[in-house]
Amino acid sequence: MSKFTALLAIRTIFYILPSLLFLAFGTAFPSLAVGVKAQGESAIPSRAGKEKAARVVAVAIFNALLGVALQTGTELLFTEVFHMRSGIKVTASLPTPWGIAKDLLSAFAICGVLHYHIHRYVLHSESSSYLSRWHSTWQHSVRAPYAFVATYDHPICYIPSHWVPTYAPALLFRFHVLTCHLFTALVSLEEALVYSGYSVLPSTIVFPGMARRTNAHFTSKGKGNFGVWVLLDWLSGTTVAGGKDVVDDVGDEMEKHGAARRASGAIENGKGMVEGAKERLSGAETGDRKSKRSERRQMRKESVPSIEGE
Ligand SMILES: [Zn+2]
Repeated sequence: MSKFTALLAIRTIFYILPSLLFLAFGTAFPSLAVGVKAQGESAIPSRAGKEKAARVVAVAIFNALLGVALQTGTELLFTEVFHMRSGIKVTASLPTPWGIAKDLLSAFAICGVLHYHIHRYVLHSESSSYLSRWHSTWQHSVRAPYAFVATYDHPICYIPSHWVPTYAPALLFRFHVLTCHLFTALVSLEEALVYSGYSVLPSTIVFPGMARRTNAHFTSKGKGNFGVWVLLDWLSGTTVAGGKDVVDDVGDEMEKHGAARRASGAIENGKGMVEGAKERLSGAETGDRKSKRSERRQMRKESVPSIEGE
């Protein structure tokens, strides 16, 4: 039961509450939210109708809770029904920070690969199936995503595309419970931020780029940008217009820093030019004085032989 409570708390704190905050902000200050939403006014959830927004929130929270219940149920199935060891490691000795970092990295990689392929080939399969039709009429009925849309889908679509990719790495590597909870928290926060539709997000490259690409997945009606992280779309050539790729994001960022560097460089150059001009001026003055002195010396020399010659 404690596992259920811990997971529920993590999903509530890192996904449901931030999503509610985003929704409240968009509803209470629509004019402010329009300015920071990638799709402007059409991205305000209530614009699509209050009933629709309420349905999205209800289904999204239901799916998030369904994920928590399924994960707890699977754990109980292992330990209580099959009398096997638990899928998640629960020991008093904590993993090292390096061990946690390594596990999290593998978890994000596996989760990303699974989500991309299930989303692309099952939910957007070329041959129509129940799942692709449900994904299209449920999640893709929303034109502009907002945080709750991350888990808004037909539950039968949500389980393979979101729940399985998030839970599979923990089972596969038999994560320590601490790593498992940390990963759930990070994925929850990622979902809330990436689907928020906000173009102004923390971190200059990562989150705004991910949110813009997710936004483009919806505006293109699922023609591309199937992954949350850009790498697989980039390698598979499935990036769609409206979602600049990571090279553009890094380019923009470098451009910004480059502009700042160029500006400070220009100031330095300006200073250098002024200093150089000053030096040249003073050099010219001393040069003038020197040349006048040597002229006078020359004149004196020329006058001496004429005297001698006389
Ligand atoms: Zn889709």
